Amino acid sequence: MEDNYKHRGMRKSLVKILIEKGINNQGVINAIGKIPRHYFFDNALEQHAYQDKAFPIGEGQTISQPYTVAFQTEKLEISKGDKILEVGTGSGYQACVLVEMGANVYTIEYNKSLYTRTKSFLPKMGYAPRFFYGDGSQGLIAHAPFDKIIVTAGAPSVPSSLINQLKIGGILIIPVGNNKKQKMLKITKQGDKKIKKETFDYFSFVPLLGKQGWDK
Ligand code: SAM
Repeated sequence: MEDNYKHRGMRKSLVKILIEKGINNQGVINAIGKIPRHYFFDNALEQHAYQDKAFPIGEGQTISQPYTVAFQTEKLEISKGDKILEVGTGSGYQACVLVEMGANVYTIEYNKSLYTRTKSFLPKMGYAPRFFYGDGSQGLIAHAPFDKIIVTAGAPSVPSSLINQLKIGGILIIPVGNNKKQKMLKITKQGDKKIKKETFDYFSFVPLLGKQGWDK
């Protein structure tokens, strides 16, 4: 795995694009500017790593578009030491961004071979979130509550388990919609029975499976 001046140059250009698109959280910008995204690609496909687009990672799944990663991460308002659940480990790139920002990351993946692959690959890059295999639409009850929860697959509705597993004051960021496009929602848990819901633009994610996803 080599990270040379060419890669660093392409990363700088990507960061510039993200800033032009409205990303301004310095922690997010620094993390994306630092993580070698081309490590997630086969050598032959390396030129795609620093384009602002999603890319297939096998098993019918994708590594999210950098802008989407940046947008969701920015909305999480991360502070160092935050305990964060990521639903949908996928390639592990989003988890690296969260770890790079000083979060304490728990990431769960429903696809066994992606889980196995990413769990073995990320530590080789120097990133070590805690990996779990299972249905993240139901959260991760054994390790709840969380300061923040990020869902990186499109849900039909907001899973109640995820709100239940947030601390008071916690934030859930989740795309909700149909199988083509989803609105990004930010939910802040203001009290045991009180939430604040903010709605942002449309995005396009692979479906959130599982009991509180599209399998329900
Ligand atoms: N965060 C990932 C990254 O940085 O590469 C991108 C995730 S990809 C867009 C969505 C992932 O969610 C897929 O890997 C998929 O297998 C996973 N997924 C779908 N339903 C899930 C569920 N119920 N629990 C956990 N993971 C799920």
